[in-house]
Amino acid sequence: MEQRDSWKWQVRKSIRSTGELKEYLHLDSREECGIKLAEAEFSWHITPYYASLIDPDDRNCPIRLQAVPQEKELHDNSGVMDPLEEEKHNPAPNIIKVYPDRIAWTISNICPVLCRHCLRKRMVGREHFDFSGEAQKAALEYIARTPEIRDVLLTGGDPLMYPDEFIDEILARLRTIRHVEIVRIGSRTPCTLPQRITEKLCRILKKYHPLWLNTQFNHPKELTEEARIACERLANAGIPLGNQSVLLRGINDDPQVMKALVQGLVRFRVRPYYIYQAQTLKGTSHFITPVEKGIEIIQSLRGYTTGFSVPVYLLDTPYGKVPMNPETIVQRDAGAVYLKTWDGKIWREPNRRE
Ligand SMILES: *Cc1c(COP(=O)(O)O)cnc(C)c1O
Ligand code: SF4
Repeated sequence: MEQRDSWKWQVRKSIRSTGELKEYLHLDSREECGIKLAEAEFSWHITPYYASLIDPDDRNCPIRLQAVPQEKELHDNSGVMDPLEEEKHNPAPNIIKVYPDRIAWTISNICPVLCRHCLRKRMVGREHFDFSGEAQKAALEYIARTPEIRDVLLTGGDPLMYPDEFIDEILARLRTIRHVEIVRIGSRTPCTLPQRITEKLCRILKKYHPLWLNTQFNHPKELTEEARIACERLANAGIPLGNQSVLLRGINDDPQVMKALVQGLVRFRVRPYYIYQAQTLKGTSHFITPVEKGIEIIQSLRGYTTGFSVPVYLLDTPYGKVPMNPETIVQRDAGAVYLKTWDGKIWREPNRRE
C-alpha cells in the first residue's frame, strides 16, 4: 500500500478543492469565495506534505501565502503573462535561448505545488503544452546542431515530475551530444515534494555527471527533516545543489528570515545561489517588494554570515539575469530602476515603493 512517504501518493492525493484544504487550515467564507474566484483564472493544487507545513491559524503563514490562491490575484492588471518574453526566444520547441552558451529547456508543465508567484503561470498547470515525441526530437536536434550550447538547464514546470524511466531516457539522450558539457535540473521537489528524491532516482541521476541541481526554498519553515533527507541524498550522489529564492513581500522580505534561510540551506549542503526580484507579472503584484529591500537583505548578510551563503540578488529580464548591486543600477528615479545587462543593454523595471 502506498503511503504518505511515497511521492506518487502525494501527487495522487494533491489538494485541489477548498473542502480538502479545510483539513489543513481555517478558511472563512470570504477566503473560500476568493479562492473559488481566483481559481477560474489561475489554477492551484498543493501536495499534502506541503499543506501540512501551513500554520492553520495564521492567515499570513509563509507557506500558505505561497500555495493558497487569494482573490487579489484577480485584481492585478499591472503585469503581463510573459514578463521575460520567453515566447520570443524559442529557437526550437520549448527551448529558451537568451545567452550565447546555454539554454533553458522547459520539458514539463507540471509542478507538485502551483506557486502563486510562479513566473511561468502562463504554462505551468495549464493544458496546452506540447512535449510530444516530435517536439522533443526537434529540441534535441536543435541542441545537437548548435555546438555553442555547453550548458543545458532542464526546467519547466518540474522535470522531476516525470517517472524515473523518462528522466533516465532524456538524460541519456542529452549525454549523446558531445558539446553539452553540463546538465542542470531546476526542480522544486526537494521543497514541495521531497519524497520524490528517492535512492533510485539518485542512482539514475548520478550516471549523468556533471549534473547540477537548483531548487527553490523561500522560507526557513520549509527546511524540514524530509527536505533535509532529500538534499542529503542528492548531495551524496555527488550533485552540487543550489537554491534560487524569490523575494516575496510578507514571506521572506526580512533580513532575519533570509539569514535563517541561507544558514539552514548550507546546513543542508545547498548553496544559496540567487534571490530573484519578483517579476512584474500578472496576478502576482502583491508579492513585489521595493528593490531597496533586496539590497538591504544582501547588506545584512555580507560579512554577517558565511561568505558562500550570501546569494546574488538579481532581476531576470528578457535580456538575461542582471545582478542588482550599486554597479549595475545605472539610474534610479521615482518610479523605476534602470539596469545594465551583461551585454550592455539597459532594462527599465518599475520600482514599487512601500
Ligand atoms: C536562468 C537562465 C539560464 C541560466 O542562467 P545562469 O545565470 O547561468 O544560472 C539560462 N537560460 C535562461 C533562458 C535562463 O532563464
Ligand atoms: S516550482 Fe517553479 S515552475 Fe513550478 S509552480 Fe513553482 S515557481 Fe512555477
